[in-house]
Amino acid sequence: MEPLYNTYPVAIENSLTGEKEAFIPVNAGAVGMYVCGPTVYSDVHLGNARTFTSFDLIFRYLKHLGYKVRYVRNITDVGHLENDADSGEDKIAKKARLEQLEPMEIVQRYTVDFHNVMARLGALPPSIEPTATGHIVEQISMVQAILDRGWAYESNGSVYFDVEAYNKEGGDYGILSGRKMDELQAGSRALDGQDEKRNPADFALWKKASPAHIMRWPSPWGDGFPGWHLECSAMSTKYLGEEFDIHGGGMDLKFPHHECEIAQNKACTNHGGAKYWMHANMLTLNGKRMSKSTGNTILPGELFSGNNDLLAKAFSPSVVRFFMMQAHYSSVLDFSNEALLAAEKGHDKLLSAWSSLEGACAKGGQGFDVDTWKRKCYEAMSDNFNSPILIAHLFEAVKFINAGEGNLAISPDELTALRNTFSAMVFDILGLQGGSDSSAHKDALDKAMDLVIELRAQARNNKDWSTADLIRDQLKEAGIQLNDGPEGTSYSI
Ligand code: AMP
Ligand code: ZN
Repeated sequence: MEPLYNTYPVAIENSLTGEKEAFIPVNAGAVGMYVCGPTVYSDVHLGNARTFTSFDLIFRYLKHLGYKVRYVRNITDVGHLENDADSGEDKIAKKARLEQLEPMEIVQRYTVDFHNVMARLGALPPSIEPTATGHIVEQISMVQAILDRGWAYESNGSVYFDVEAYNKEGGDYGILSGRKMDELQAGSRALDGQDEKRNPADFALWKKASPAHIMRWPSPWGDGFPGWHLECSAMSTKYLGEEFDIHGGGMDLKFPHHECEIAQNKACTNHGGAKYWMHANMLTLNGKRMSKSTGNTILPGELFSGNNDLLAKAFSPSVVRFFMMQAHYSSVLDFSNEALLAAEKGHDKLLSAWSSLEGACAKGGQGFDVDTWKRKCYEAMSDNFNSPILIAHLFEAVKFINAGEGNLAISPDELTALRNTFSAMVFDILGLQGGSDSSAHKDALDKAMDLVIELRAQARNNKDWSTADLIRDQLKEAGIQLNDGPEGTSYSI
C-alpha cells in the first residue's frame, strides 16, 4: 500500500527561509526531529506546555502518515544562565542554592513534573530524551573542533565563539533571525563576562566555573561547564546526524539559541543541522507572553484542579489540549477562563458526536461526501499542520452525525471510513482523550454517584446497615472511595 505521506504530501513553513516548502526528508520515509526541551528548574507552565504540545501534534501526524520518526527532545540540566545570555547564575544551580538541595535533586524533581504534565496532556514521549550533563564529552569535543577551525578563542578559562571570524570566512551568523552584525555588536559590554569577549556578538561555548559553582567538569581549558547553545548542537548531531530534517522550539528560542546552534553546527560539520526550522508561537496571559521570569504564568495542574483565581472551574487535560489545538501552532494564543469554557463546549460536542458515531447505523444514501471530507482533513494537516482547519472539518462531520440521530444517510463502507478517519483525527492526531477523562463522562459519573450516595443515605436512615455497607464495600472494590464528612458524602477514585 502507498504510504499516506505520498498521498498527502506535507508542506512546512520553514523559519529559515520564511517560505512554506514541500517537506522532503533527508532519508526517504524517515524523519529526524529535534525539539529543545525544558530547563528543569521550575514547574513547566502552560506556555511551555503549549510548545511541547504543538510538537507532539507534529510528531503524531508524521507518524500517522507512515514516516519512521526519531523524535529527540532534550532536558537542559546545566548551562542555561539566568538572563539567557552568557552571564548570571545557572538557573538550576541557583534554585539548588535557594532550596539547599543538590542540583540533580532539582533536575529530578522538575523532570518528573514535566513528564507528568505532558503525559496528562496526552503527549507521547519522545524517542530519545538526552540530557546536557550526559553529553559533556561530546560538547568538549565540539568546542575543540571550533577552536581548531579558528572560529573560537579562549579567554580567562572560558571559550567564546568568534562571530566575526566565522562571518569573514563565509559564515552566515544572522541567517535565521535576520539580525545584522552591526546590531549585534551594539550589545552591552557592561554585563558580567562581556569583557572576556572580543565582540559583544560572541557567545560562550564553555564557561569557566567560579569556585562557588557546583556544576563543573574538567576540560582542556580548566574546570567549567558548557554554554547553553552547545548541548543542542551536540545532541542533535549525535542522535540525528550532521544533516537532519526538523528542528523545533518556541519562537523565543530563534535568537540567540537557534542562531548560535546553526553557527556551531556549521563550524563543526559544514551543515547547519536541520533543513526545516519550525517555531511554535507563544501562549499569552492578559495579552502578555506567559513567562516564568515575569511571574505571568498559570500551571497546567492549576487548570486540572481549578485551583487558581483566574478559573471558574477545573478543566480536563483533554479540554486544555483541545483549547491549544484550536489555534494554529504558529499563531499567538491568549489564555482566559472564557476561552477554556468555549473550548470545553467544542470538545464535549466533538466527543459526544464520536459516541453517536460509534453506535450509528448506515441507512444508505448520499447525505455526506465522506471521501472528499477525509481528503480535506488530511490536506489541512499536511498543509503545515493546520489543526484549526482540521477541527472545522471535523465539525462538518459532527453536524451530519448529529442530524442523523443514529441512522446515517451513507453506505456501510462510508460509515466505516467516516469512523476510521474521525477517530484517527480526534484521538491519534489531535491526541484528545475520550473515556473517563472527558468532562461529559465526568458529569455523567458525578450524577450516577450522587444517586448511589443518596441510596446509601436512605439505607442508613432506615437502619439497613447491610445495604449501606454493601454499597460502600462494592464501590471500594471498584476503586471508588466514599468519604463521609460533616458536609455530606463525597467520592474519590
Ligand atoms: P525553557 O524551559 O525556558 O527553556 O522553555 C521551554 C520551552 O517553552 C521553549 O521552547 C520555549 O520557547 C517555550 N515557551 C516559553 N514560554 C512560552 C510561552 N509563553 N508560550 C509558548 N511557549 C513558550
Ligand atoms: Zn536547544
